[in-house]
Amino acid sequence: MRMDLRELIVSPGKSEDFEFELDREGLTFDGVLKYLTPITVRGRVENHAGLLKARYDIEADMLCQCARCLKEFSRTFRYEGAAYLTGELEDEDNEDYYLLDNGFADLDEIARDAMIFNFEPRVLCKSDCRGLCPKCGKDLNEGPCGCAEDLDPRMAALSQLLEEE
Ligand SMILES: [Zn+2]
Ligand SMILES: [Zn+2]
Repeated sequence: MRMDLRELIVSPGKSEDFEFELDREGLTFDGVLKYLTPITVRGRVENHAGLLKARYDIEADMLCQCARCLKEFSRTFRYEGAAYLTGELEDEDNEDYYLLDNGFADLDEIARDAMIFNFEPRVLCKSDCRGLCPKCGKDLNEGPCGCAEDLDPRMAALSQLLEEE
Protein backbone atom coordinates (compact mmCIF):
# COMPACT_ATOMS: atom_id res chain seq x y z
CA MET A 1 0.00 0.00 0.00
CA ARG A 2 1.18 3.49 -0.86
CA MET A 3 0.05 5.91 1.82
CA ASP A 4 -0.42 9.57 1.04
CA LEU A 5 1.31 11.50 3.84
CA ARG A 6 1.50 14.92 2.19
CA GLU A 7 -1.00 16.38 4.63
CA LEU A 8 0.26 14.58 7.73
CA ILE A 9 3.83 15.68 7.10
CA VAL A 10 2.83 19.32 7.64
CA SER A 11 0.60 18.57 10.66
CA PRO A 12 2.71 18.08 13.81
CA GLY A 13 0.87 16.21 16.55
CA LYS A 14 -1.55 14.53 14.15
CA SER A 15 -1.76 10.86 13.25
CA GLU A 16 -3.37 8.65 10.65
CA ASP A 17 -4.30 4.96 10.86
CA PHE A 18 -3.83 2.39 8.14
CA GLU A 19 -4.76 -1.21 7.50
CA PHE A 20 -4.09 -3.34 4.45
CA GLU A 21 -3.42 -6.85 3.23
CA LEU A 22 0.14 -7.48 2.14
CA ASP A 23 0.75 -9.32 -1.13
CA ARG A 24 2.14 -12.76 -0.20
CA GLU A 25 4.05 -13.03 -3.47
CA GLY A 26 7.70 -13.84 -2.72
CA LEU A 27 7.09 -14.14 1.03
CA THR A 28 7.93 -17.81 1.27
CA PHE A 29 9.87 -19.13 4.23
CA ASP A 30 11.50 -22.44 5.09
CA GLY A 31 9.04 -24.44 7.13
CA VAL A 32 5.93 -22.60 5.96
CA LEU A 33 3.76 -24.86 3.81
CA LYS A 34 1.10 -22.26 3.11
CA TYR A 35 -0.71 -19.22 4.41
CA LEU A 36 -4.11 -19.86 5.98
CA THR A 37 -5.16 -16.19 6.07
CA PRO A 38 -4.11 -13.01 4.29
CA ILE A 39 -1.19 -11.12 5.83
CA THR A 40 -2.84 -8.22 7.65
CA VAL A 41 -0.88 -5.10 8.48
CA ARG A 42 -2.39 -2.53 10.87
CA GLY A 43 -0.82 0.59 12.19
CA ARG A 44 -0.63 4.31 12.61
CA VAL A 45 1.66 7.04 11.33
CA GLU A 46 2.29 9.83 13.83
CA ASN A 47 3.85 13.19 13.24
CA HIS A 48 6.19 13.84 16.18
CA ALA A 49 7.33 17.43 15.78
CA GLY A 50 7.82 16.95 12.06
CA LEU A 51 9.24 13.41 12.20
CA LEU A 52 6.92 10.72 10.85
CA LYS A 53 6.89 7.47 12.80
CA ALA A 54 4.92 4.43 11.68
CA ARG A 55 4.00 1.78 14.24
CA TYR A 56 2.55 -1.38 12.85
CA ASP A 57 1.73 -4.97 13.55
CA ILE A 58 1.70 -7.82 11.09
CA GLU A 59 -0.40 -10.92 11.53
CA ALA A 60 -0.93 -14.06 9.45
CA ASP A 61 -1.96 -17.64 10.13
CA MET A 62 0.31 -20.23 8.54
CA LEU A 63 0.49 -23.96 8.11
CA CYS A 64 4.03 -24.91 9.13
CA GLN A 65 6.18 -28.01 9.28
CA CYS A 66 8.52 -28.54 12.21
CA ALA A 67 12.17 -28.67 11.13
CA ARG A 68 12.90 -31.41 13.70
CA CYS A 69 9.88 -33.74 13.94
CA LEU A 70 8.30 -32.83 10.56
CA LYS A 71 4.88 -32.48 12.18
CA GLU A 72 2.49 -30.07 10.49
CA PHE A 73 0.91 -27.44 12.68
CA SER A 74 -0.80 -24.10 12.31
CA ARG A 75 0.43 -21.01 14.03
CA THR A 76 -0.12 -17.28 13.99
CA PHE A 77 2.86 -15.20 12.99
CA ARG A 78 2.84 -11.82 14.74
CA TYR A 79 5.32 -9.01 14.57
CA GLU A 80 5.15 -5.50 16.02
CA GLY A 81 7.52 -2.91 14.67
CA ALA A 82 8.16 0.72 13.98
CA ALA A 83 9.77 2.68 11.17
CA TYR A 84 10.62 6.30 10.50
CA LEU A 85 9.55 7.94 7.27
CA THR A 86 11.71 10.73 5.99
CA GLY A 87 12.13 12.96 2.97
CA GLU A 88 15.83 12.23 2.74
CA LEU A 89 18.01 9.49 4.14
CA GLU A 90 20.93 10.71 6.18
CA ASP A 91 22.09 7.33 7.41
CA GLU A 92 21.73 4.83 4.58
CA ASP A 93 22.53 1.91 6.84
CA ASN A 94 19.70 2.47 9.27
CA GLU A 95 17.10 -0.10 8.36
CA ASP A 96 14.37 1.59 10.40
CA TYR A 97 14.37 4.64 8.12
CA TYR A 98 12.41 4.67 4.89
CA LEU A 99 12.36 7.25 2.17
CA LEU A 100 9.14 9.00 1.20
CA ASP A 101 8.40 9.23 -2.48
CA ASN A 102 6.92 12.68 -3.09
CA GLY A 103 5.09 12.47 0.23
CA PHE A 104 3.97 8.86 -0.20
CA ALA A 105 5.17 5.96 1.97
CA ASP A 106 5.66 2.45 0.58
CA LEU A 107 4.13 0.47 3.46
CA ASP A 108 4.45 -2.80 1.53
CA GLU A 109 8.22 -2.47 1.54
CA ILE A 110 8.29 -1.81 5.30
CA ALA A 111 6.07 -4.81 6.10
CA ARG A 112 7.93 -7.13 3.71
CA ASP A 113 11.31 -6.17 5.20
CA ALA A 114 9.95 -6.70 8.72
CA MET A 115 8.79 -10.21 7.89
CA ILE A 116 11.98 -11.17 6.08
CA PHE A 117 14.26 -9.83 8.84
CA ASN A 118 12.23 -11.29 11.67
CA PHE A 119 11.08 -14.69 10.50
CA GLU A 120 12.90 -17.43 12.39
CA PRO A 121 15.33 -19.47 10.24
CA ARG A 122 14.13 -22.79 11.69
CA VAL A 123 10.43 -23.28 12.38
CA LEU A 124 9.84 -25.61 15.33
CA CYS A 125 6.53 -26.99 16.68
CA LYS A 126 7.85 -26.08 20.14
CA SER A 127 11.22 -24.75 21.25
CA ASP A 128 12.20 -28.04 22.96
CA CYS A 129 10.98 -30.38 20.21
CA ARG A 130 12.97 -33.63 20.48
CA GLY A 131 12.68 -34.49 16.81
CA LEU A 132 12.80 -37.92 15.23
CA CYS A 133 15.11 -40.83 16.04
CA PRO A 134 17.67 -40.89 13.22
CA LYS A 135 17.58 -44.70 13.27
CA CYS A 136 13.91 -45.76 13.49
CA GLY A 137 12.22 -42.44 12.72
CA LYS A 138 10.03 -42.46 15.81
CA ASP A 139 8.79 -39.10 17.07
CA LEU A 140 10.78 -38.75 20.31
CA ASN A 141 8.24 -36.26 21.66
CA GLU A 142 6.00 -39.28 22.21
CA GLY A 143 8.63 -41.09 24.29
CA PRO A 144 11.92 -42.92 23.82
CA CYS A 145 12.08 -45.48 21.00
CA GLY A 146 14.46 -47.98 22.58
CA CYS A 147 17.00 -47.81 19.77
CA ALA A 148 19.79 -47.03 22.23
CA GLU A 149 19.05 -50.18 24.27
CA ASP A 150 18.51 -52.37 21.20
CA LEU A 151 21.91 -51.56 19.80
CA ASP A 152 23.84 -54.73 18.87
CA PRO A 153 26.78 -55.09 21.36
CA ARG A 154 29.28 -55.27 18.47
CA MET A 155 27.72 -52.15 16.96
CA ALA A 156 27.86 -50.48 20.35
CA ALA A 157 31.58 -51.22 20.60
CA LEU A 158 32.08 -49.89 17.10
CA SER A 159 30.14 -46.70 17.71
CA GLN A 160 32.10 -46.18 20.91
CA LEU A 161 35.33 -46.59 18.94
CA LEU A 162 34.10 -44.07 16.39
CA GLU A 163 33.18 -41.62 19.12
CA GLU A 164 36.63 -41.92 20.69
CA GLU A 165 38.39 -41.14 17.45
ZN1 LIG B 1 8.61 -30.71 16.29
ZN1 LIG C 1 14.75 -45.14 17.34
